[in-house]
Amino acid sequence: MYSKSKIKSLVSASPILKDIMDAKPVSWLNPELNSVAHTGFSITLEDMKAAERLWNRFAPFFEKGFPETKATNGILESPLREIAAMQSLLNETDESIKGRLLLKCDNELPVSGSIKARGGFFEIMKYAEQLAMDAGLLDKEDDYSFLTSGEFNKFFGNYKIGVGSTGNLGLSIGIISAALGFQVTVYVSSDAKKWKKDLLRDKGVTVIEFDGDFSKAITAGREKTKADPQAYFVDDEDSRNLFLGYTVGALRIARQIEEQNIKVDASHPLFVYSPCGVGGSPGGTAFGLKQIYGDHVHCFYIEPTHCPAVLTGLVTGEMSDISVQDIGLDNKTEADGLAVGRPSHFATKISKQLVSGIFTVEDKRLFKLLAQLKDTENIFLEPSATAGFIGPPLMQKTEYAKKHKLPLHNATHIVWATGGLLVPEEQRQHYYKKGCEQLSTAP
Ligand SMILES: *Cc1c(COP(=O)(O)O)cnc(C)c1O
Repeated sequence: MYSKSKIKSLVSASPILKDIMDAKPVSWLNPELNSVAHTGFSITLEDMKAAERLWNRFAPFFEKGFPETKATNGILESPLREIAAMQSLLNETDESIKGRLLLKCDNELPVSGSIKARGGFFEIMKYAEQLAMDAGLLDKEDDYSFLTSGEFNKFFGNYKIGVGSTGNLGLSIGIISAALGFQVTVYVSSDAKKWKKDLLRDKGVTVIEFDGDFSKAITAGREKTKADPQAYFVDDEDSRNLFLGYTVGALRIARQIEEQNIKVDASHPLFVYSPCGVGGSPGGTAFGLKQIYGDHVHCFYIEPTHCPAVLTGLVTGEMSDISVQDIGLDNKTEADGLAVGRPSHFATKISKQLVSGIFTVEDKRLFKLLAQLKDTENIFLEPSATAGFIGPPLMQKTEYAKKHKLPLHNATHIVWATGGLLVPEEQRQHYYKKGCEQLSTAP
């Protein structure tokens, strides 16, 4: 627990913590940003490539089990799009963005409709493959489409999977685990969106709802799952495999960047802006991009003002020991994917050296951006997924580019859109309307 005097000494060591505690939007540059050459981590570029090979082995499984992935031969990927109309609109309303603006459209990722597919699917595939190989039922050279068969469903049916999640992670883990035949339980808070709970139950997932403090719910789910030797718990707060799954996104986007003839080097800096919850998805993609582009890529995270979990951990140096509740914040946001009080233990150690900075954003901005993107590009994102858009102008207002001598007129800015596909039409309308109201009332 953090006493009042402890918090007071943390504030005097890092005055920005006062604004964070008051839920004010802040811009923070990471004083411990390290050159990639000087970092040493427990995962490597080789691990990323091995992770991609696992994804490729499962492609025939997806192709057979999920017809929507036929067109891409079972590869789950999303486009990287230029969004010139949105850029013009943003330029009119805020500081002009120097360089080009692109959108990484993980809102279109097939099957689970969010970036969680990258980490969550990977973790389950890895577990399933290991189980089947240990039982002598599967070899890496096999055609994995037969994992859709009744025989395999029956085999995986002997095992249980548990996950605690307020939203997209639960959706991802639930969808893939159920498709493979696992007995899967998703622990959610009772205020999780009804459509998500319905969708999961429809697929045969057991959904257990908890009132009140969600972290207690996760703890209960974790203990219950871990007590069972036939069960596996996906732990968002500390998972190497989730992280590895996200790094594959970096290998893939690097190919898209090359295909689009976008230069990334000392005179062509690349900026990537990612919405951040526990820090696994932004950390995994940042780690991967750093392995590929070294110090020519600059990664920024964006968190809601009411749940700046990673920022609080890094600013105080307390890492995943501290939660936003410890500094008096309520951890309430309508950006469900980002409603996280405590950062990932695994990912935060890596972000400490690789993240260039973190910005916080108020919910109302997210809704405005949602409506603006719909109006200009006809692209729908869920509220969390729009957070990256606040990044480019805020970065330009800091001394970051000057300090690192970056020629911004040659910059490429990629906003990582992280979810949206599965949001039902009625809910979309509701979000869009909210954004339009914000645009017409706020200055
Ligand atoms: C989970 C999520 C994020 C953040 O990912 P973390 O790994 O929790 O940092 C961002 N956007 C959406 C839509 C999400 O569901």
